[in-house]
Amino acid sequence: MKYIKCGAEVFEFKPKPLPKTCSYCEEKAILRPEGTSLYLCKDCFLKFCEKRVKENIIKYKMFSKGERVGVFLSGGKDSATLLAILKKLFPTQNIIGIYLNLGIRYYSEYAQSAVEELCKKLEVPLHIVDLVEREGVRIDDFVFTSFKDKVCSVCGVIKRYYFTKVVKELNLDVIATGHHLDDTLSTMLSLFFNGDFISLSRLRPVLPPLHAGQARKVKPLFSLPELDIFHYSVLSELPIEGCSCPHGELTPAKRWKSWLNDMLKEDKTFKFRLLSIFMKKLLPLLPKEELEKEDEFSPCQVCGEPTPSKSHICVKCRRISLLQRVEDKRLEWTAEEFLTYYSQNRDRIVVFDVREKEDYEKGTFPSAIWVDPNLVSAEEKDFFKHFKNYQGKELIFLCYSGRLSYLFVLRLRKLGFKAYNIKNPEKLLKIK
Ligand code: SF4
Ligand code: ZN
Repeated sequence: MKYIKCGAEVFEFKPKPLPKTCSYCEEKAILRPEGTSLYLCKDCFLKFCEKRVKENIIKYKMFSKGERVGVFLSGGKDSATLLAILKKLFPTQNIIGIYLNLGIRYYSEYAQSAVEELCKKLEVPLHIVDLVEREGVRIDDFVFTSFKDKVCSVCGVIKRYYFTKVVKELNLDVIATGHHLDDTLSTMLSLFFNGDFISLSRLRPVLPPLHAGQARKVKPLFSLPELDIFHYSVLSELPIEGCSCPHGELTPAKRWKSWLNDMLKEDKTFKFRLLSIFMKKLLPLLPKEELEKEDEFSPCQVCGEPTPSKSHICVKCRRISLLQRVEDKRLEWTAEEFLTYYSQNRDRIVVFDVREKEDYEKGTFPSAIWVDPNLVSAEEKDFFKHFKNYQGKELIFLCYSGRLSYLFVLRLRKLGFKAYNIKNPEKLLKIK
């Protein structure tokens, strides 16, 4: 099975018997948990992961009986594994799955379907928050603002706002997220080298609420390697969305992840040793965050939620207000709309076909120029160079389903080009 994760990291898993029996039973071993000398069969591997999670929950007192636990689900393997393990270890706990649909085209809907399927399979109630319904905007719309190359930072603001809001709406005591060992270490390295010790001090497995109305934040998977989580999700046949968010960027933390995996080749316990040094030696030296003072908060004049902002408008509402100034948020045309538009504006439109070359050669939209589909993941300077002669034109992109061509459109918009996607491209491709 191949699984492509947010940020273009690729995992592959082809379970095959190893020439060993399981370290815990008589079955044939199929894999080795990262950083250990164990050989495990499927059942013992699943129990091994579950035991580690249970130890974390008990050791750090993450939640207790009777508490309402919300699990934020993204559609990916980490949060899916977290929900499956929690449900298995604590079948009578009050657990609620939460999905925030950010309106990201060719991603959010697929992720929501995976989350719905997962909650159905695990018999967990699901609460969906839809950004388009609540605010009338999509994360994609921010490519029209000054945040066009920082869409993830705006997305982070909106996610944090709704996570806090949902905690109150659902009266949750605890929120659990699927952050794992590789997330913890890569974020730690990135913050450390930026000298951001305040954020570093928040990198704990349990964060108590900082003011009334907040919930305890817990990370039960924080000591599990990402690869083990991937294997757990595949072996448990959890429904997951294997495609990346089209805004995914190669962040410094993601670069650190690949460095950590390189270090693992020299020392298979490297990640665990680093975690242990961080938890035992560095974290105790960092100051714990102080409780936020209630009297420093006032209700946001737009949404009514408490905010420390001196302008009395919360950061989420300030970001959303940027979109009110954008008159035209169009990023896509249907084939029919496009044909009418094209007939009136032919001289300023350039059409690109980003399908495989052999399909392009079999037939494409008249005048369409072929672009290598791999260009979408090229370095920024090469990507820009390819299109720089088309600045000032309107660039239209076609592919098989609209998904890949949308990636080209978003990338070009972030570079300041006027680019559009075709929603139902097959109709245009049939035109002779
Ligand atoms: Fe949001 Fe960026 Fe993650 Fe996409 S990749 S979900 S835009 S933070
Ligand atoms: Zn607000």
